[in-house]
This record gives sequence, structure tokens and C-alpha cells, in this order.
Amino acid sequence: MTNDTNKTTGTVFNIRRFSLHDCKGTRTLVFMKGCPMRCRWCSNPEGLNSEIQVMDNLSLCIGCGACIKACHAGAISAGVSYLIDRKKCTGCLACVKVCPSNSKTVSGERKTVDEIAGIIKRDAPFFSHSNGGVTIGGGEILMQPDFVKEVLQQCRHDNISTAIETSGYGSWDELAEIAALCDIIHYDIKEIDCDKHLDFTGVKNILILDNLKKLDALVGGFDPKPMLILRLPLIRGYNLLEKHIEKVAEFIKANLKNYHSIELLPFHNFGGQKYKKLGMPYALENRKNIAPEELGKYTKLLTDKGLPARVQNGKPIVVADNIEIDHTHYSTMKRRTPKWSAQQQQVQLVQ
Ligand code: SF4
Ligand code: SF4
Repeated sequence: MTNDTNKTTGTVFNIRRFSLHDCKGTRTLVFMKGCPMRCRWCSNPEGLNSEIQVMDNLSLCIGCGACIKACHAGAISAGVSYLIDRKKCTGCLACVKVCPSNSKTVSGERKTVDEIAGIIKRDAPFFSHSNGGVTIGGGEILMQPDFVKEVLQQCRHDNISTAIETSGYGSWDELAEIAALCDIIHYDIKEIDCDKHLDFTGVKNILILDNLKKLDALVGGFDPKPMLILRLPLIRGYNLLEKHIEKVAEFIKANLKNYHSIELLPFHNFGGQKYKKLGMPYALENRKNIAPEELGKYTKLLTDKGLPARVQNGKPIVVADNIEIDHTHYSTMKRRTPKWSAQQQQVQLVQ
């Protein structure tokens, strides 16, 4: 790791500004590229590979053939939408440069810490008005820990509220350092059964659950305590089972006491098109989306046990004795949200 933020770089595949649906407030979302897991339901397949990739935007191809001429690897041939043969592609990006119709585009970009922190800082006035901030996710943030730490440090320096999303599958030391720089930590529990977890995601869950226990103890010692929000992605045909939820509840009750709340995330297949663009098979091709209302009975299983659970972006079903959620849900952020003066806001807006 270097302290020169101009030199530290990371690969991101998306920066989404003014997001209103991820956590509370207006947020800038930074998506890190690269993930050690292969969840069958992943909705961001462009975040799996840590390399910069070319995407085929099928409907935009005008059949000019410029990409075939530019490709020295012979990875493109005339035919249906001039698709890339991924086994031959070397990632040189020559086809992207010559494509006149944006049918070939790049997923992933190397950015310095200063570049990313600068983009985030431009949105600061919107954060302060809405109790928002930055959320860094992916992919998996623990694949690029130095970069993530430095961006979070810079945001802290700029008085911007910080959040991360993680699967927890990575180095404990890195996770602990990153957690110390966060106001909100979203942590996934994808499957509680170890063998099923391996089957669904490509890795066992031992490290993930172990890190979660350590993280729970760690945040308990922080003042103010960052919000540790447990997220349960629920996928039809995989873990949308009462038995799964009951086992998750048992794990939480037995091992965790400093988390803030539990969010149930209903599966959606919005990522399906992106698999096509990357020439990847999509395991959940015809799987029906889950409407948030369908999760009521699963939420109730948790709330009946006194656990503060809700569906993502939904209203809380119950509030545990000592934890308030919903309108006061993100109250700890307020302590760290910057109070910009009118003059400062003006400066930010014109940058
Ligand atoms: S990125 Fe791949 S498909 Fe495109 S020109 Fe290079 S080798 Fe060919
Ligand atoms: S350069 Fe672009 S528009 Fe032309 S054939 Fe290739 S993908 Fe299609």
C-alpha cells in the first residue's frame, strides 16, 4: 500500500451517482471489479472478472465489419451480431476503438484514489441534504483492499458518510481495517449450510461466518458504532426456504449482538442481459423475480424471534426492544454527516 493517493489505483466497473434505492439518502455507488465467489444469481456479472473486458451490445451492431479487421486474434467473425469468441479474445480493446456504433464497449477502468474521491466529493452537497454518502461495493471490495481503504480515508477526510457492501470472503485483517473507516457495513449471509454455500457460490462459508462473528465483536467496541446490516439474498430454487431462514436466525441469535438490522433481498433477474453481453451463460435465465410482498412470511419468521428484519426498501415489520429502525434507521449517520455551509455547497456545486 502506498500513501500517495495519486499512485494507488483500482479497477471499477461502474460509478452510479444519485442513487436513491441503496440504503438511505442520496448515494454515490462505486462498484469494484473482481470477485472470488461465483454466486449463481449474481446480478453484476461484469464485476466477477477483475480484468477489463469487452461487452457485446448485440442490438447496436450495424454489421460494418470494422471490428473483424481490427482484431488480430481472429476472435470476431461475421454473423449474428459479430459476437466475440471469448476463448480467443486477448482483451486488446482494438475492436472497441473502431466500433462506430458502441456495439463493443469496455467494462472496467483503472482509476486512482484521487479520481474516485474527486467524483464522490462532487456529490457531497447532495449527501448532506439527504443523510446520504458513498457506498463501495462490487464485485468484492476485499479483492482491492488498499484502494478501498484509501478512498474511504479520503471520504472521511472530506466529511462524507461511508458505507461498504461485502460478502466477507477475504482477509480478516483487511476487513477490520476497512470496517474502522465505515459508518454502515452491509454484510451478506447467502447460505447457512456449508455444502450448499459451496454449491451455490463456489466457496465454503466458514471464513465468511467466522469473519462476521469477529466483525460483530469489533463494531461493538467502536464509538459511535457503525451500522452492521445483515443482508439475506433470497433466491427461488436455492435458499428461499423457511428452513434456511430459521437456521440463519439461530446463527444470528447464538453469535451476533452488535448488528443493527437484517434486510431480506428479493431475487431479480435484471442482470440477465449483461450475461449475454459478456458471452456468459446465465443459470437463472427463466427464473421468476420475487416480489417484495412474497417475503412477508420469511420476514415474520425472523421478527417472531425478536430479530429486527425487513425487506430491502420496505417498511419494518417489527422493532426489537432496544433497536429502532426505519425513520431513525440511519440515525448514526447523522453524527458523521458533514454540515456544509451555504458557501461550501456553492463551491462544491460549481466544481
Ligand atoms: S478485445 Fe478481443 S475481440 Fe476485441 S479486438 Fe481485441 S482480441 Fe479481438
Ligand atoms: S465494428 Fe461494431 S458495428 Fe461494426 S460489425 Fe463490429 S460490432 Fe458491429
